[in-house]
Amino acid sequence: MASTSQQTATAGTDQSGEVEQFDAIIIGAGVTGLYSLYRLRELGLSVKSFDDGSGIGGTWFWNRYPGCRFDSESYSYGYSFSEELLQEWDWKEHYSAQPDTERYLNYVADKFDLRKHIRLNSRVVSAVFDENESLWQVEMEDGHRARGQFLITSIGILSASYIPDFEGIHSFKGPWTHPGKWPKEGMDLAGKRVGVIGTGATGVQLITEIAKEVGHLTVFQRTANFCAPLRNGPIDDETQKKIKASYPEIFKKCAETNGSFMHQFDTRSAMAVSPEERLEQYERLWLEGGFAKWLSNFYDVMVPGEANEDYAEFFRNKIRERVNDPVIAEMLVPKDHMFGSKRLPCESGYYEVYNQDNVSLIDVRKAPIERITPKGVKTTDAEYELDVIIYATGYDAVTGSLNKIDIHGIGDEILKEKFAGGPRTYMGVQSAGFPNLFTINAASVGNFVRAAEPLVDWVSEAICYVRDNNFKRISPTPEAEDTWTKHVSEAGANILRSQADSWFVGANIPGKARVLLTAPDTAPQMRAKRDAVAANGYEGFILE
Ligand code: NAP
Repeated sequence: MASTSQQTATAGTDQSGEVEQFDAIIIGAGVTGLYSLYRLRELGLSVKSFDDGSGIGGTWFWNRYPGCRFDSESYSYGYSFSEELLQEWDWKEHYSAQPDTERYLNYVADKFDLRKHIRLNSRVVSAVFDENESLWQVEMEDGHRARGQFLITSIGILSASYIPDFEGIHSFKGPWTHPGKWPKEGMDLAGKRVGVIGTGATGVQLITEIAKEVGHLTVFQRTANFCAPLRNGPIDDETQKKIKASYPEIFKKCAETNGSFMHQFDTRSAMAVSPEERLEQYERLWLEGGFAKWLSNFYDVMVPGEANEDYAEFFRNKIRERVNDPVIAEMLVPKDHMFGSKRLPCESGYYEVYNQDNVSLIDVRKAPIERITPKGVKTTDAEYELDVIIYATGYDAVTGSLNKIDIHGIGDEILKEKFAGGPRTYMGVQSAGFPNLFTINAASVGNFVRAAEPLVDWVSEAICYVRDNNFKRISPTPEAEDTWTKHVSEAGANILRSQADSWFVGANIPGKARVLLTAPDTAPQMRAKRDAVAANGYEGFILE
């Protein structure tokens, strides 16, 4: 990052002592919020982050459910900005578990002395742009207020948990929770009759882990997913040394791939090679870790068509091989969406769980959940008596967390209303009429930290550009926003992840507009677009 801010940092409370003043306010102290805080502070701005958690870590603070862990290689997920940090931190496993990742983020906060710039237990309920002063004022649930020229929402794309509005939900006599709100003190599931609703990436991790200790597990599945073996394991000393010596290559590789993962597509078509060669590649990738089987494959398995279906059938057969009861196996085999059109959950023994005597699988597509009763879950077929219910029913992605904050821009325009038909932004980072508001959460998909670091760098540079040139405001032109929104809708319509009914397009939330919620572009394309905009004096933005 080249520029530094020439203006003097301002921080503290105003004369009335009621409203804290900063140059920049960040909402969230997760992976993006922490890095935004670090970066802006390094650039000389006074900055404060507000987070509703009682600890830092965002996603990795809240998601304490058993089995929660990375699907990206740990060493590809950590921050890259500090060589010292890279060399100091030992990832324990190839795919880090939540407690270790939470420890990592706390380690980062302490190492870079970020904690004093973070106010925890602070749920921001509103953010209002003061047009006269060109400042954002945020207010917290406890009445605390703060003002700053810039407002950055680092609130995650999957942080607004969603539980369907089942009738009778509050009548249930036992404990119930969403995995994203897993109690800090844990939940006693040993020997209990536990029901899990939902079999997405969260449900799959959770089910596999708790099946080991519960008395009886009832899984309510609406859609079977393509799930792949994670192949996790501890990192031994020798591998640790190798990893630490090869960070430049790891990050270079991530920078070159579409989703910033360590896996690069094979440029060959699956259909252009012999069936034997195709199968040999499928089997080889099957034995590799994480997303290799998804993202290192023939490029056209990720394009609707023959190759995609060929690979889907390979996956289906792998599921059939692992489940003893053929009827249950068929229930677990996905047949209603294309491979890769939903996010691939990675698992460590998920399918084998259904060979256990203490696990039942209920098809709630065939017999939907009618209501929650005091005793458990009632479908159109039967009532299932339970001691605990876990709603692994997903998230109101991207816009859900923004909508929880009452954000008012110029002319009292309300962001939630503006985004009712889907996000209207320029490159996901800003929306016209909401100057100096950077919606970082609305811009990235893929290996999260790899996508977040360059994005935060870009936003920080933009903020410095505004300050160094004595502007007060930056916001996109309505034309740039229109063009971008049209691009998302048109280019997004053709890509694989728009084809299924999932959070990628808001289809998991009843009544939510169906539109791709993130950019349709690859990570390298997005970085190039943003860089070109900055190099052209923030083309498409109004600087006032
Ligand atoms: P999800 O993928 O949206 O899955 C939600 C599940 O709940 C689906 O099986 C869904 O069924 C079911 N469901 C929703 N409403 C229902 C209803 N009314 N009746 C019955 N079933 C219902 O959510 P998620 O599993 O929390 O995962 C969300 C995202 O979080 C993932 O895609 C991934 O990006 C991220 N994640 C990452 C990791 C990781 O990095 N390791 C781990 C967990 C999650 P339908 O499919 O039929 O809608």
